[in-house]
Amino acid sequence: MMLEENSFRELKPLIKEYLIKSPQQESCGIIYLDGADFVFLETENLSDNKRQTFCIDPQVILKYNPVCIVHSHINETAYPSDIDILNSSELCIPYLIYSLRFDEFYLYQNKSV
Ligand SMILES: [Zn+2]
Repeated sequence: MMLEENSFRELKPLIKEYLIKSPQQESCGIIYLDGADFVFLETENLSDNKRQTFCIDPQVILKYNPVCIVHSHINETAYPSDIDILNSSELCIPYLIYSLRFDEFYLYQNKSV
């Protein structure tokens, strides 16, 4: 499923509100499809290094089959890190990243998927 930059326009304010609650660590969540509606679900960051990385329970991924994975960057731009690109490509799931510092979203999706 190819997403468009504005696919999550209506969810972004909600997502941002959630992500900026944790300025000291990366926060994460998923977007899944419920009928024709995109739904955002907050998930716990299970990473050991929450300032720089995030980790979502694989059971959540399996259960919801998300159309997109969401996480925040604290000090970096919203552009995906090398690890983000690798993980997104391996999972075949686009990443929506929000930068707290630059107050911007970036939707990354591997065009070859
Ligand atoms: Zn990242």
